[in-house]
Amino acid sequence: MLETLRHLTQRLNEATDLQQAMAFVVRAVKDRLAVDACSIYLVDASGVNFVLVATDGFDPRAVGSVRFARGEGLVGLVIERQCPISLSDAHAHPRFRHVAEFGGQAHHAFLGVPMTHLRRPLGALVVRQLNDRVFQSDEEAFMMAIAAELAGLAYATAAGSVPPLAGGTAERAPSALLRGIKGAPGIGIGTGVAPPVGADLDAVSDRSVEDGDTEALAFEQAVDDVRAELRGSAERMAAGMPSETHAIFGVYLEMLDDDQLFADTLARIRAGSSAASALRRTISEHVRAFENMADAYLRTRAEDLRGLGRRVLLRLQSGSSQTSVYPSRCVLVGEEINIARMADVPVGQLAGIVSSRGSPYSHAAILARTLGVPAVMGLGAVPLDQLAGKTLLVDGNDGCVHIDPGPDLVGQFERAVRQQVESADALRSLRDLPAETTDGTRVVLHANVGLSSDLANALESGAEGIGLFRTEFCFMLCDSFPSEDDQYRVYREVLESFAPKPVTMRTLDVGGDKGLPYFPLNEDNAFLGWRGIRLALDNPGIFLTQLRALLRANAGIGNLRVLLPMISSCREVDAVHQLLSRAAAECASAGHPTNPVPLGIMIEVPSAIYQMSALSKRVDFFSIGTNDLTQYLLAVDRSNARVAHHFDSLHPAVLRAVDSAARAARDARRPISVCGEMAGNPAAAVLLIGLGVDVLSMAAPSIPPVKRALRSFSLQQAQGIAAQALAAEDPSEVHRLLESALEEAGLTGSSTTRERVS
Ligand code: PEP
Ligand code: MG
Repeated sequence: MLETLRHLTQRLNEATDLQQAMAFVVRAVKDRLAVDACSIYLVDASGVNFVLVATDGFDPRAVGSVRFARGEGLVGLVIERQCPISLSDAHAHPRFRHVAEFGGQAHHAFLGVPMTHLRRPLGALVVRQLNDRVFQSDEEAFMMAIAAELAGLAYATAAGSVPPLAGGTAERAPSALLRGIKGAPGIGIGTGVAPPVGADLDAVSDRSVEDGDTEALAFEQAVDDVRAELRGSAERMAAGMPSETHAIFGVYLEMLDDDQLFADTLARIRAGSSAASALRRTISEHVRAFENMADAYLRTRAEDLRGLGRRVLLRLQSGSSQTSVYPSRCVLVGEEINIARMADVPVGQLAGIVSSRGSPYSHAAILARTLGVPAVMGLGAVPLDQLAGKTLLVDGNDGCVHIDPGPDLVGQFERAVRQQVESADALRSLRDLPAETTDGTRVVLHANVGLSSDLANALESGAEGIGLFRTEFCFMLCDSFPSEDDQYRVYREVLESFAPKPVTMRTLDVGGDKGLPYFPLNEDNAFLGWRGIRLALDNPGIFLTQLRALLRANAGIGNLRVLLPMISSCREVDAVHQLLSRAAAECASAGHPTNPVPLGIMIEVPSAIYQMSALSKRVDFFSIGTNDLTQYLLAVDRSNARVAHHFDSLHPAVLRAVDSAARAARDARRPISVCGEMAGNPAAAVLLIGLGVDVLSMAAPSIPPVKRALRSFSLQQAQGIAAQALAAEDPSEVHRLLESALEEAGLTGSSTTRERVS
């Protein structure tokens, strides 16, 4: 059974045509379970009826005409209960419904399992047998595994509903609506742009060319560029980088100088292949050879070879591609939209982000929010290439994407956009007013910034400083580690633009969902792996370069504060102090005297909360990262769409953790801020102030609505709300509490508690 399951799963994963895949499934399941009929039902466009869309064992003319409402008959019961129903004699069940289209046979045994995608019922997979039969648990498990795969495919190809059925067969109509998860609020309309293949060797298709000489030259140039890049990186990183990390540059260089690799690729180019396809074929051939080696060490070289192939491909692509031309209103579509892709679109042209993976807490969504661009994430396995060139209406408020919307729908959404703009304009009048509770308690509001293009938004928003500058975003835009001078220029520009207001720069926080194309990590549990301060301390060469650039950028301005990500122990902070002193000494000896800077840590790993008193002896301020704190406390991967509904920063456990941290900071007389996404939710902001948080830092567009909420409550009211929230037993109680508090303050419509928090 396992073999059939593997085979079926593979077929489904490769399938591009739902109807063909379903025909294959019903036949294979019928044979494997030795039943008399296997059928698939899918929800129709009305969302109410479940229609027979494929069968083996019944008259094929029944396809498209047999339908069950939810709860109707045994099929409807499977869908209503969302669990398998197994009966040895279905006729005896009170819900049994005779279906004339099935012909006169009286099937007795029945096993039906639901097909569900992200908790939404999409249909059912059903087998029937003429005689009585008790289905075994492994048969039920087999059916459930197939149903789960089918649901993914059905959702992907039909976008959650069956294409209109006519004449007994399903017509393949283009889907009009894709449902995902709210990534960033707002509504945007634009033309879908699928990202280029990127440095993905597997995605390079075979292409032949006439002008082999030009291709060969391009390949040789790309190899030379990569060689120079690797030598440069190796030299820059030589100091302080652990030998095994540094060794990777040497390994790459050796591989690059391998005559065989070079000669094989050139031979393929000369035989008429494009440089990229020749490279792909050569690399896969050599990778296969490594993978088949008996020696475990040599087998791991296969991954290095792939890494090297990606680098050369990246060079080939950047060398050959002209600057990308984007439509004036562009919706970026992709499996994952990386920061570099977003930064590539000229400011003002990015109308939306649509991705099949990710969640509101993925860094792409966070960046979209700071840029004020609507985003829908976690669409599942949708055929993304089919969205390119289509008009896409991205509804980040509702988490859905309309494909080629008609004029009525566009008109309706344009009205909503106008309303959004009007209310944003109305809130802009708050820009120069203080964020102050009704009884005069001042709250400091800062902006989170990731890219230089966010700076204008942050300056415009009335932010009193930058509470979180994610320096890793700059690293993510480069082809190799940026030099000290390159970093210096970026940091200097940010510090100068905000001076004399404070700017909190967080040191490199890569790992997790923030990868560097030139430093592949490939970890099984990336969020629990080589992340943030761990990676920085293990690579002092990289870290010292950044510290020197930061200290130098602050010279003569003095508004820099340095924030450390992912701190989990005092030892890490002690190590940073030593490196900071060394960086300052190195700057001084290079003729750049620097001044001491306030040092703070992120409170985002739960262990830090239990060590606040010891940590406070070592740092000047704290900043709570509720995104990671929620992820680690609730054990929910922040960028996994499947579990996104479990991610809730208003969970009472998270609130109690924030409360403990705020109390400990107060006891130690250290300021504490929140810079996670939670701070940008108006209702949550009131709650955080009630918990004793001093500063809130958020995406710039969130500042006006948060300010309005804070100006509508007294500190005492906020403290009352916080006390009630801390006593809650379930997150839903906290959501209700905040919703009614906003309603009583007359703030409904500005934002719901779910909109930006979870
Ligand atoms: C956080 O974890 O809350 C945070 C602000 O950092 P990031 O989202 O960049 O991990
Ligand atoms: Mg974090």
